[in-house]
Amino acid sequence: MLEQKHYDVVILGGGPAGTSAAITLARTGASVALCERSRYQENRVGEMLSPWIRPLLTQLGQWEQFRQAGHLSCPGMVCCWGNSQPYENEFIFNPYGSGWQIDRNSFDRSLALAATEAGANVFFHTLVVDVNYEERFWKILVRKDGELRSFKANFLINALGRSQFPHTKEKIYLDSLVGVAQFFQNVSDFAIDDRRTLIEATEVGWWYSAQLPRGKAIAVLMTDRDLLPVKPKDLEAYWKKSLLTTIYTIARVNFWHSANKLHIYDARTSYQDSFSGQQWLSVGDAAATYDPLSAQGIIKAISNGINAAHAIASSEFSHAVSFNDYNEALLSSFATYTTERHLYYDRERRWEHTSFWQRRQGNHKFLYA
Ligand SMILES: Cc1cc2nc3c(=O)[nH]c(=O)nc-3n(C[C@H](O)[C@H](O)[C@H](O)COP(=O)(O)OP(=O)(O)OC[C@H]3O[C@@H](n4cnc5c(N)ncnc54)[C@H](O)[C@@H]3O)c2cc1C
Repeated sequence: MLEQKHYDVVILGGGPAGTSAAITLARTGASVALCERSRYQENRVGEMLSPWIRPLLTQLGQWEQFRQAGHLSCPGMVCCWGNSQPYENEFIFNPYGSGWQIDRNSFDRSLALAATEAGANVFFHTLVVDVNYEERFWKILVRKDGELRSFKANFLINALGRSQFPHTKEKIYLDSLVGVAQFFQNVSDFAIDDRRTLIEATEVGWWYSAQLPRGKAIAVLMTDRDLLPVKPKDLEAYWKKSLLTTIYTIARVNFWHSANKLHIYDARTSYQDSFSGQQWLSVGDAAATYDPLSAQGIIKAISNGINAAHAIASSEFSHAVSFNDYNEALLSSFATYTTERHLYYDRERRWEHTSFWQRRQGNHKFLYA
């Protein structure tokens, strides 16, 4: 096994949280390595950004590049929630202009390249296998191109998203939400001239649909995993049956062709029992995951990444640092989110006798049976 360099900080995971932390830390002059298992080639979900992305990307020095990357500007959302009359949630009064529908793979990849340009060592196609804290530093075991390697670090940032961080307990889950997604290719300009994200509640959950850059589009059924049939063929039939119960989603999806097979994505709300510890911090989804209804995941991940980097840099890489302020900020934002989530789901009362909606109403804590 090759013994690798000792870094100030090693970041596990190259999603928006990990890459934002890497850019920010590398700019302080710290030696930083980031390990990402993919090459950003698989389909990623999480496509909508509110206008509040702009100040964050400006802080990372990435705003101009983002504007020129071919992402689609998005004037707002249309929601059909609580009754069958849709209402609009426009970004028109936002000081930062429009929102965005992004090509998620290219967005994540470009932040990873920006981390390299800032001076971080970014290792693509590098799977984190294990981590151990030994006598004031971390040892990180990874597999790259079939070969085991190890790194050492004074600080570790867990940015593994929904994957399990070997050093902590399993997350605490508040529901069993999943997204059953279909990506559409070669959608014609005619069919997709409405750039707003559409959200529509149905009996078994809710739908979101959006057009994406480069002639693509996505339609996703959000429901609880245990309500879905197990066999792929039955799943497809269930997805289509639910789509037929929509009024507005079906009207746009009917124009979208060349669909791929369905993908199921974990979308459970969860939190880690601790966000930091001895010389480590969790950021983004690795710390807490939000319902996609909030469309806050990416912005929260980037903002956590930047804040975690500042917390480590301002400790001057001292071993005795505590991250109390960072923990409290994350806890407070998660508490606000759970309250808002409850209020929003509570507004939909048309199917209160069904399992999906019953689980989300009248119970502030969203206990999952
Ligand atoms: C169906 C759905 C729709 C969503 N829609 C939106 C939306 O519209 N807007 C929005 O803002 N958010 C949305 N989200 C949430 C958003 O996608 C996440 O909050 C965001 O990706 C979190 O970023 P992250 O960097 O924390 O984690 P991730 O983006 O998950 O990044 C984690 C990274 O770690 C890597 N990794 C994992 N395990 C290992 C390992 N062992 N070794 C090395 N690397 C590893 C992964 O490859 C990945 O690159 C949605 C989520 C779902 C499920």
